[in-house]
Amino acid sequence: MITPLTPNVSRFLSTPLLHCVGGKSLASADGATAQVLNPSDGSILVNVSMGGPAEVDAAVAAARKAFPAWSALRPNERAVILHRVADRLEKFQADLVQLESLNVGKAITAAEGYDIPFGIQCLRYFADLSVQAQMSVPLAIKNIEARTYLSPYGACGFVFPWNFPFILLMWGTCPALASGNTVVVKPSEVTPLSTLFAARIAIEAGLPEGVLNVVVGDGPTAGAALSAHPGIKRMSFTGSPAVGRKVGEACGRNLVPCKLELGGKGAAVVFEDVDVEAVATQLAGAITLNTGQVCCTATRWMIHEKIYDKFVDKAAQALKRTRIGPGMDRETQMGPLVSETQRQRVLGYLERGRAGGAAVVLEGGRAAPKGVEKGFYVQPALLAGPDDNVCCQEEIFGPCAYLLRFRDEDAVVGQVNKLSYGLANSVWSGDLRRANRVAEGMVAGNSWINAHNVFAYGLPYGGVNLSGTGGGVNSPETFYDYIRPQTIARPLA
Ligand code: NAD
Repeated sequence: MITPLTPNVSRFLSTPLLHCVGGKSLASADGATAQVLNPSDGSILVNVSMGGPAEVDAAVAAARKAFPAWSALRPNERAVILHRVADRLEKFQADLVQLESLNVGKAITAAEGYDIPFGIQCLRYFADLSVQAQMSVPLAIKNIEARTYLSPYGACGFVFPWNFPFILLMWGTCPALASGNTVVVKPSEVTPLSTLFAARIAIEAGLPEGVLNVVVGDGPTAGAALSAHPGIKRMSFTGSPAVGRKVGEACGRNLVPCKLELGGKGAAVVFEDVDVEAVATQLAGAITLNTGQVCCTATRWMIHEKIYDKFVDKAAQALKRTRIGPGMDRETQMGPLVSETQRQRVLGYLERGRAGGAAVVLEGGRAAPKGVEKGFYVQPALLAGPDDNVCCQEEIFGPCAYLLRFRDEDAVVGQVNKLSYGLANSVWSGDLRRANRVAEGMVAGNSWINAHNVFAYGLPYGGVNLSGTGGGVNSPETFYDYIRPQTIARPLA
């Protein structure tokens, strides 16, 4: 049964949505708008203003104007405001859950159990951390009285993708805000709803005008304008490696430091000594989570030859059991893909994979859940074969995995590391000494043991090589990424 909309969500979607600049709603100067769709049935949720360079200019100006006062607050004063924002986000949690589910198509139970509460927790984590941070650190240098003095950068820019709009908004902006920066956010044009709603809540909770600004727009106009804006002092981008390169190049031209959190093609290495059914079920869950639109998910499954056949059988059974349906249905385990474009991309990859010689274990393809006429649904897919197949090499971003059989520990580590991606892999074994050895050998930002997707605040998360650069998120160091060090020194007579 589809969950009925809360009154707040109905009201929010009843009028066209505008940008949030300097604490106020702003329409695009040229009146441009776009439709925001519900991927679960293809219907229009609301119209949203689409901005470009003019709106980005206004947002950067607002962020720069707000910076002196926000950065001058003592950390505990800022932390009090940020905790108030977190309180109010919690008060409106049910509305945020619905907006995330409606807009992304994700299962409402996932948005409720994970995306929104875990996102809000991020704000509290960095608010508390900011109070502990030492912003002036004495240096013991002979004959010089010296210290490192730390202060925020200024206006920081953020560009986000569509798969986890609220969590990524929080992971990105919370450390920057807590350390005294002001921010301009460009959410994905496909999924701007929770970001715009959260910005309103933050302002109502007392976040000063201009500290958080949101401009909705498409990538080549609004995203590119923000990445290249001379008023931005620090940039952060989450998305595909192809666009990450463009953002990095724009920042390079301005000599602006840039954090890039990019795609992945994670591996799961499963040894022969595991509970085969339990691991197969967990990995099936990893590729159906958020309909496989997860940067760090395990999409290359490397299974020890002794358990391969049984594992494949159990994984296929688990995937066939997955309940596919509208995001807002509480029975749904896997919602639709985010858009028809994304569905075409996933189906196209499966076709190319098959044409390239992959064996089909589960075919995938379009899905038509009972009682739903439209929407961007697909079935989970499992392919197998040699590792030079396109489906084993490129990020598909759908509920698909590619199976590989292995015998030897060193060889399988080599196979994991064959790709340039380096975001997250997992190793599954009862032998923890072996698991740790393999975990260390896999070249990536994250190696998980006997689980896939391990997240906590204080646990750094980031990528290497094609999966990103610049420090990652969620660690105490992320807070310091948004602070510039300055050496203050005086020679002693
Ligand atoms: P994308 O790169 O197409 O778009 C991301 C954002 O960049 C969007 O807001 C888009 O409008 C904007 N953009 C597009 N062109 C731009 C340009 N020229 N200049 C500036 N901005 C531009 O990615 P997507 O399809 O939205 O998201 C999927 C990708 O994101 C996958 O590769 C996924 O792995 C990655 N991702 C990574 C992480 C991580 O933490 N490493 C998290 C989530 C998603």
